[in-house]
Amino acid sequence: FRYSCDICGKKYKYYSCFQEHRDLHAVDETGSYVCEFCGKQYKYFNPYQEHVALHTPISEPVSTYLLSVLYMFIL
Ligand SMILES: [Zn+2]
Ligand SMILES: [Zn+2]
Repeated sequence: FRYSCDICGKKYKYYSCFQEHRDLHAVDETGSYVCEFCGKQYKYFNPYQEHVALHTPISEPVSTYLLSVLYMFIL
């Protein structure tokens, strides 16, 4: 077997199977940060932030800021 899991030692012949198995560990171990768009979980903030940025258009922070300003005027 070419690929062995460094977390539980399970061995895989094909990389796709191995990768799928590792994804299971990734979900089990994480949970601190959950992507609100696709539900993917991240243990650390930095990779989570990078992932969420993929969902979010660059113009998003501006519109969010404008919305918060609008709310300030309404309230
Ligand atoms: Zn494993
Ligand atoms: Zn996501």
